[in-house]
Amino acid sequence: MPSNAQLIDGVALSRQLRTEVATRATALKARGITPGLAVVLVGENAASQVYVRNKVKACQESGLHSVLEQYPVSTPEDTLLARIDALNRDPAIHGILVQLPLPAHIDAQKVIEAISPAKDVDGFHVSSAGALMVGQAGFWPCTPYGCMKMLESIGYELKGKHAVVIGRSNIVGKPMALMLLQKNATVTICHSATVDLKAMTLQADVIVAAVGKLNVLTADMVKPGAVVIDVGMNRNAQGKLCGDVDFDGVRQVASHITPVPGGVGPMTITMLLVNTLEAAEKVALAA
Ligand code: NAP
Repeated sequence: MPSNAQLIDGVALSRQLRTEVATRATALKARGITPGLAVVLVGENAASQVYVRNKVKACQESGLHSVLEQYPVSTPEDTLLARIDALNRDPAIHGILVQLPLPAHIDAQKVIEAISPAKDVDGFHVSSAGALMVGQAGFWPCTPYGCMKMLESIGYELKGKHAVVIGRSNIVGKPMALMLLQKNATVTICHSATVDLKAMTLQADVIVAAVGKLNVLTADMVKPGAVVIDVGMNRNAQGKLCGDVDFDGVRQVASHITPVPGGVGPMTITMLLVNTLEAAEKVALAA
């Protein structure tokens, strides 16, 4: 029977979590430590410039120190690696984020591996990925971490549920699947070579769509009552920001759904703040 799914509001949840970050940051400051994030941008990519500005602004609003370092597109890889090395040793910086994509002449993985795992607040370092893989403490990539917080916010019990993740990137799909698995869901990962996506998604209690294509998930592909998390960010023919999910159709079938905009996007930045704060808290604990 068609119904209207309940929205999982990423803006409201972010507001709540950022208030908690601000409170914890104030407590750290009282002990002489201001959590600090360095955001490194190379080149003129317009979307990247918007993303980094939003990250810096979010830091400021939550009482975190932030520095934005911008370098020209021609910056040699060695120069960038030297800068990362200096940030690794800077005691005012607890988190380092290198905005991707990097220009083609720079090996992005090499730059990510140069970040100290203790400051890897994006969670992209192979050591952070390995920690997630084996269930050890480490920084979780912000986007799937935000999705987990959204599921937690509705009190969703993942144990024994079937979760289908569409997409297998290193920054969203794969870590998402590992986080769901850690919470005892049975996890299926789908990708571009999946033969019958609909057959997979129709079995799912939870669907996470992280593809980057409009209408990858439509109402006929969703089991009634499923929870749907839409990570995708696309523009439709009218230039409007949309996810991967046919929102108007799927909301008639799902029990819960995240909107785009106002869903996973704000949660990604929020989890960056959480990771940066926790990096600083670890330093305070060790002091
Ligand atoms: P990506 O690296 O391009 O990965 C896309 C994945 O989708 C790949 O694994 C690909 O499969 C799979 N795929 C492509 N076509 C498919 C199809 N028809 N059916 C099933 N799977 C298909 O992208 P990403 O970095 O993970 O990002 C995914 C989306 O999330 C993008 O729209 C991105 O902008 C958005 N995003 C949003 C946020 C946020 O904060 N809201 C953060 C990060 C990303 P193969 O591996 O086989 O190629």
